[in-house]
Amino acid sequence: MTKLELFKYTGVEQGPKLLVLGAIHGNEPAGTIAIEKLRQQLDSGLVKLLKGSVCFMPICNPLAKDKDVRFIEHNLNRILNRHENEITQEHGFANQICDAIDNTDYILDIHSTHLEGDLPTVFNDFVTDETSSWANALNIGTVITSWRDMLNESDAPADFSDTVNYAHLKGKKALLVEAGYHYEPQAEDLAYQSIINTLEFLGMIEQTEKQIPNNDVAHMYKIVFKTEETGAFVKDWKHMDEVNCGDVIAKLDNGEELKAEYDGYVVIPFPTAKAGEEWFYLAKK
Ligand SMILES: [Zn+2]
Repeated sequence: MTKLELFKYTGVEQGPKLLVLGAIHGNEPAGTIAIEKLRQQLDSGLVKLLKGSVCFMPICNPLAKDKDVRFIEHNLNRILNRHENEITQEHGFANQICDAIDNTDYILDIHSTHLEGDLPTVFNDFVTDETSSWANALNIGTVITSWRDMLNESDAPADFSDTVNYAHLKGKKALLVEAGYHYEPQAEDLAYQSIINTLEFLGMIEQTEKQIPNNDVAHMYKIVFKTEETGAFVKDWKHMDEVNCGDVIAKLDNGEELKAEYDGYVVIPFPTAKAGEEWFYLAKK
């Protein structure tokens, strides 16, 4: 069984425990690169940890990362809970990530998306005053809530669990960042800044003076799976493209049109999704 790398840094004083996750999906390099940059700065003393501790798990799915694919047998962020029988390596990775989550207070899980031009967003699935303030402090642009509510109301598998859900079940606070398109350098910068902003928010590094405006908030309301029925998007949607209620998102070959039900956004469109995979999501303002 492959052991995931975990790097821990401890401040002088007691304080919060933060876990930062990269490459839960193997083809999403932004978090891994951002973690490497920050580790060098911590090692050299350029960034000083004042209190608490931060653990980095830079490559959560090393097998998928080696092949530059999202996952090998299981999408790690759909099976992120305890597995008594480690049938695949990804079950083993999930168990190791659960161990790391069990040993922390806060989790920042960094991802990226499929299409050039995708806007960055942060997902705050279990809203509290603290997670709302933290999500806003990341200063990413749009905060998206209600991911878990959307899943609960959909026909998605009931055991569909991700890092933020497992963290919530364990009483931890977690956010998931989508840093933009996988291969845009801005995604690495945004991933890095989101870790720095989290460390500042938790008082773990020196604060810099900055005014952060209230970010927009959007709410997930629909998940659409690709079915056996062939069909296509009516345009090249990007993550966070705005749509109005009634706008057609996709047309199936049987003539059925899939439409937005509220004014809002197309979320993480995946034009090459295969039957059974998540195709796109919708959020409302
Ligand atoms: Zn991802």
